[in-house]
This record gives sequence, structure tokens and C-alpha cells, in this order.
Amino acid sequence: MQTVNAYAAPAAGEPLAPTTIERRDVGPNDVLIDIKYAGICHSDIHTVQGDWGPQQYPLVPGHEIVGLVAEVGSAVTTHRVGDRVGVGCMVNSCGECTHCRRGEEQYCTQGNVGTYGAVDRDGTITQGGYSTAVVVDAGFVLRVPEALDFASAAPLLCAGITTYSPLRHWNVGPGSRVAVVGMGGLGHMGIQLAHAMGAEVTVLSQTLSKQEDGKRFGADHYFATSDPETFTRRASSFDLILNTVSAEIDLNAYLSLLDVDGTLVNVGAPAAPLPVAVFSLIPQRRSFAGSAVGGIRETQEMLDFCAEHSIAPATELIGADGINDAYERVLASKVRYRFVIDTSTLG
Ligand code: NAP
Ligand code: ZN
Repeated sequence: MQTVNAYAAPAAGEPLAPTTIERRDVGPNDVLIDIKYAGICHSDIHTVQGDWGPQQYPLVPGHEIVGLVAEVGSAVTTHRVGDRVGVGCMVNSCGECTHCRRGEEQYCTQGNVGTYGAVDRDGTITQGGYSTAVVVDAGFVLRVPEALDFASAAPLLCAGITTYSPLRHWNVGPGSRVAVVGMGGLGHMGIQLAHAMGAEVTVLSQTLSKQEDGKRFGADHYFATSDPETFTRRASSFDLILNTVSAEIDLNAYLSLLDVDGTLVNVGAPAAPLPVAVFSLIPQRRSFAGSAVGGIRETQEMLDFCAEHSIAPATELIGADGINDAYERVLASKVRYRFVIDTSTLG
């Protein structure tokens, strides 16, 4: 065991504070990672607030992790000391079910082991990336290409893969008309990725205040959802809508923007249900879907895709003492567009 510095939520709704946590000894299949940077995902906030159900506290969030390999177990052949690596939302899965064997560990029938707040296969509760080191099964450790700037690569491990996976699953490419709802951490990645895949990309944001940034990320069109005309003018005009909003919105209004056979994929995960009227779907054979992060193989593919296409999250680097303010700014939609913690400031 080793003791490492971390930032934890002591209880639901309480500010995060410095602490120390224990990391397990490096087993034969494990990799010890010196964490350098950790992104702040809105899911961290949902989780520590208890939006998704009760948690065991103290809880160290963080599932957008990059760092350097400090030690590898005796059976590890895929990573070496000094490698630039990343860890996303999962640190384990059964490895045997149909979904794991297909490389979709996020849909493991036993349930994948989340990077924090989950029961690990040894019975301990996982603790996440707002910390100085972590021990992870080598099968869940990604290679971070040299072409990617290290600090700004961290958000790819969740925001990147969560938007890349549905864009790939629904075969986005040249000719696809894609709308991204919400331009925060996930949204600003979805725009860049869909653009790089050749789609015609529209941003649907609450206001036009971030329009210039949206166009810079590759959006062809940008509309305000506070303007009712957006919904009449753009009716039945998209093949795929990626909803990244962290709060409840009127889904039926957004479904009306889909063309025949279009799909609205919800990746945003607010606490309350989002009612869907069947008559928003039936007359145009529309689909309403969800999608969870992406598998390990696909996450590596996404990292390589970003390196190849010079895609990078827009980040604001903060120290540990800025974490609670950053949470407030994310909640107020004032993030531009992902906070990343420099873990050398964790003490
Ligand atoms: P974020 O950075 O806070 O972005 C969310 C964006 O949604 C905001 O920037 C804002 O964009 C829009 N928004 C916020 N409140 C709104 C409201 N009341 N009405 C309309 N729009 C609103 O969050 P994130 O880190 O991208 O995460 C987004 C959601 O995805 C969260 O619920 C998170 O838990 C979830 N998530 C899901 C997965 C998955 O596997 N499915 C993975 C990661 C995250 P505008 O200002 O442009 O309107
Ligand atoms: Zn996340």
C-alpha cells in the first residue's frame, strides 16, 4: 500500500478538501501511474452532490486522468516505466461477457468498475484522479500519443470518448447533419470530432454568447435555444442530435428537429427523468437513444484520431485550491471548456 495526496468530497454538497488515500500494491497485471493532470467532468459534480444516488464518502472524483507510468507489474507487457498514459471512466470489468469480449467494457453484464465511487473487484471502493497516483489494471490504461499536449489531453478520457463513441456508432461522416446540444466539456469535443469526421455541424446553445468559439471548434451553424424560432426554422433538419446537457430540457422540442429516421442520443445525465412523448417519435420514425462513454479499444482509437487530426480540448489549468470554484463555474455554464487540475498542487 502507498499513501497519496488527494482532494475529496467529505459529504454530499460539501466543498472538496485535501486528504490522503491508500493505493493498493502493484499486482502482476497492474500499472502504477504518477498522475500529472486530471480533468473535471460534470459527472464528478453529479456524483459528489448525490444526484445519481447515495455515495460512500469521503469520495475522490476524477475520471479524466493522464500521467506517467511509475511501475508495472510482472505480467504487464503493454506499458513501460516513463510512458505517457491515460485512464478514463472505468478501471475494470469482468472481461468475459459478450460485451467485454467485443471491446465494449462499458456495457459489461457484471457492471464495469467505475474509476471512483465503485466497488472494485477486491471489494474496496475506487477513488479517482484528483490524486497524485493510482494503481490500475493494465487493460484499462491507454496510451497518450506524443502529438497530444499532455495537460489538455486529460479531458479526452471522458469528454472525448463519450462524444466520439456515439458519432461512430451512428456512422457520422460526410453528408451527416449533426446537432450538438450544449457547448460545455462534452459539447465542445462533440463539435470538433463531428467536424473532423466530415459532418455538417450545428450547435444548439442556450445563447449566442459562445458563437465565435463554436465556429472555431468547427461548427457550420450556431443557434440559440432561447430563441423559439430556432425550433421552427430547424424543424426536421438533423440526422443525429447529441444532447450533452447536464440539466433537464424539453426533449420533445429537440426531437422535433430530427428528420425521418433521425436519432437523438442522450449523453447528458441529469438526475430527473426526461419525459418523451411517443408522438415526438412515431410520425417520423425517430429514435431516442442513450450512450455511455466508450470501450478501451475505441478510447485508444479516439486518442489516435485526435492526434492525427490535431484535435484538443480547450482547457483552463487550475490548482487544487481552485477545484470548488471550478465546480461553481461548471454549474453556472461558465466553463470554457474544461477545467484541468495540475495534480502537483495537491500537496
Ligand atoms: P458541462 O461542461 O457542464 O456542459 C453542459 C452544457 O449544457 C453547458 O455548458 C450548457 O451549454 C448546457 N446546459 C447546462 N445547463 C443547462 C440548462 N439548464 N438548460 C440548457 N442547457 C444547459 O458538462 P459536461 O461535463 O459536458 O457533461 C454534460 C453531461 O454529460 C453531464 O450530465 C454529465 O454527467 C454527462 N456525462 C455523461 C457521460 C456518458 O457516458 N453518457 C459521460 C460524461 C458525462 P450551453 O451554455 O452551450 O447551453
Ligand atoms: Zn466524465
